[in-house]
Amino acid sequence: MFPFFVMNTKKSSKTSSPDVVLIGAGIMSATLGVLLKKLNPSITISVFERLDRVTAESSDPWNNAGTGHSAFCELNYTPQLADGSVETKKAIKIAESFEVSKEFWAYLVENGVIDSPDEFIHNIPHLSFVWGEENVEYLRKRYKALTSHHLFHGMEYTEDKDKIQSWIPLVMNGRDASEKVAATRMELGTDVNFGALTKAMFNYLEKQDGVNLFLNYEVDDLSRKKDNSWLIEVKDRATKKESKITTKFVFIGAGGGSLPLLEKSNIPEGKGFGGFPVSGQWLVCNKPEIIERHQAKVYGKASVGSPPMSVPHLDTRIIDGKKALLFGPYAGFSTKFLKNGSYLDLPLSIKLNNIKPMLAAGLHNIPLTKYLIDQVRQSPQDRLEALKDYFPEAKLEDWDLETAGQRVQVIKKDKKAGGVLEFGTEMVTAADGSLAALLGASPGASTAVSIMLELIHKCFAEAKSPEWQREFKKIIPSFGKSLSKEKDLAAKTRAWTTEVLHLSASRLEEEVTA
Ligand SMILES: Cc1cc2nc3c(=O)[nH]c(=O)nc-3n(C[C@H](O)[C@H](O)[C@H](O)COP(=O)(O)OP(=O)(O)OC[C@H]3O[C@@H](n4cnc5c(N)ncnc54)[C@H](O)[C@@H]3O)c2cc1C
Repeated sequence: MFPFFVMNTKKSSKTSSPDVVLIGAGIMSATLGVLLKKLNPSITISVFERLDRVTAESSDPWNNAGTGHSAFCELNYTPQLADGSVETKKAIKIAESFEVSKEFWAYLVENGVIDSPDEFIHNIPHLSFVWGEENVEYLRKRYKALTSHHLFHGMEYTEDKDKIQSWIPLVMNGRDASEKVAATRMELGTDVNFGALTKAMFNYLEKQDGVNLFLNYEVDDLSRKKDNSWLIEVKDRATKKESKITTKFVFIGAGGGSLPLLEKSNIPEGKGFGGFPVSGQWLVCNKPEIIERHQAKVYGKASVGSPPMSVPHLDTRIIDGKKALLFGPYAGFSTKFLKNGSYLDLPLSIKLNNIKPMLAAGLHNIPLTKYLIDQVRQSPQDRLEALKDYFPEAKLEDWDLETAGQRVQVIKKDKKAGGVLEFGTEMVTAADGSLAALLGASPGASTAVSIMLELIHKCFAEAKSPEWQREFKKIIPSFGKSLSKEKDLAAKTRAWTTEVLHLSASRLEEEVTA
């Protein structure tokens, strides 16, 4: 037997060959683990996390922006087309996906997996704010296009400065009065502490028979055995002792660490992928009086040449019961794939099978590279100037600079261009369904539930069985139907999740003043 299994006091004897291995203890593994355990209570699962706590990388609340991405305020989800119209397809998909996430979380609350929704989700209005004639015109068109769909009903639009002032005084005070501005506001927006949610899911998983969580254990290698199961090589980071286990299914949910592990798996479906790391920083407000004066997530337009995920936003956050105010992220470049990673991550990920797509993506994205270099070279004064676009009266001494999580954008083979840089999430699965890996970072944690449901359908034959289908419907009441196509169902579902997750507008006031 393997030495590290001695540390298990309870639990199953099947830990040397669990049914499932989850690599990484972030929100993706947590979501998949809980779903699988609910679908099949006798399943055995081992989770390996290289750090000494769960949710220490991207899923940590200070490493991500905590926006429940519903496409209410994120302008990069609604591009303007060549004919001037605004494309809403992606926005509708993301909005629907977030509703599915809320259904799952409401189910977790109703079934006692999570004690209270106040631990991880809060109602914070989502606003888009723009200035300048062209941007105002775009926002007006976007509002019209989106509100024709029921998932965006309730969105408000205005060019009236007094109204915007009442919504977001920090953004309007001290602003040039002659400037043309516009804003949309969606009351139903959310701030999500994905770290607290992940922790709650792991707390639940740890109490289940047959589930083992190993902290400080790094997966070094994985290879396919003759019988198509997987041999996983794990190192105890404290003692440096190596162990091997076998499993029928492995999920590489290692965030930025997923690409190197996918490469090691050697599956043909994983060939040709590369990664482009983008680091980030926030300004975190240190003045309670200022934090109190803002109650919104305000997203603007990305500047020309910048990557979509670096759209600046001024965000109210609720982290561990305390209100906070963050601005950013300021993007940057580092060759690390994880915040706690190594500078060798990027060079070591370059292989014969991905060098061509990586070079091609590099050549096609020179403005991005230039943008990132400029961002890295920003002085504190430059950062203040960017903040002043959203908070004209900002003073540098009221803000501290903090490092955000690391994102690894996906580089993919492309027939025409040789290689393309993608800003979304990419799920790679082995043809026989015995391995799945998640690459990329956006829209990320908000859509974890839909992504994991898709993964289960791709990799587990039981997903089609009447038993699992019945369970899916219990866990996600709208399962098998479309919230983007069925207006009444969407309204009913939203009413239920709003109630269970305490997302009605007045709730936060009560909580924060309590
Ligand atoms: C700056 C920033 C802002 C973001 N904002 C938002 C937002 O507003 N809304 C939103 O929905 N999403 C947002 N995201 C995306 C979101 O944070 C991620 O999509 C999500 O947290 C990814 O979860 P994960 O479980 O895949 O990865 P992670 O949370 O990173 O977890 C992966 C884990 O794997 C571990 N690991 C790595 N390699 C190994 C190994 N070899 N062996 C064992 N363990 C390993 C790591 O230590 C880590 O704990 C943001 C991300 C960033 C960086």
